[in-house]
Amino acid sequence: MNLNLVDSSDPILRTKCVPFDFNNPVVDIIEFSHAIVKLMFEHNGIGLAANQVGLGFRAFALRAVPANFVCINPRIVWKSEKQVLLEEGCLTYPNLIVKIKRPEFIRARFWLPNGEARTEKFIGMTARCFQHEVDHLDGKVFYEQANRYHREQAFKRRKKIEKGEISYKIRVDDNFLDDVRI
Ligand SMILES: [Zn+2]
Repeated sequence: MNLNLVDSSDPILRTKCVPFDFNNPVVDIIEFSHAIVKLMFEHNGIGLAANQVGLGFRAFALRAVPANFVCINPRIVWKSEKQVLLEEGCLTYPNLIVKIKRPEFIRARFWLPNGEARTEKFIGMTARCFQHEVDHLDGKVFYEQANRYHREQAFKRRKKIEKGEISYKIRVDDNFLDDVRI
């Protein structure tokens, strides 16, 4: 299976994805999982949702230690009251780095590609990525989750990055990737 990123104007990015049906699969989910993880790595991303590659079901890849994993039909069942402001980027919107406030910890229920159900608590950058990816599956665009000030700052900064006036890459720190308990 060969996957490619859709254009940022593709309406599938603003469409709520439907649950993946293990009994009536629209794709070979194991093949899909290998392909989406591969694409995520090719673009140096830390998460990638099915609708970002033009497929409208609820699944995403997450970069993690010791193994990357693919979440099917994820549901956030609990969010911490404490929120943190962190920078987020997105493979669909290159050079757009936006500060967004979200819950610091979450508990989520999801299925692995082999059909095994899991409930896990996530912290740090993994909790952040998970929430960003669930938003994709709900048809939400990440920068619209930021307040107006941070959104404007991000678009100004993108202009400067694209003109070559500044360079910026979102930090992928291996320490926070250890947060994953899978
Ligand atoms: Zn994204």
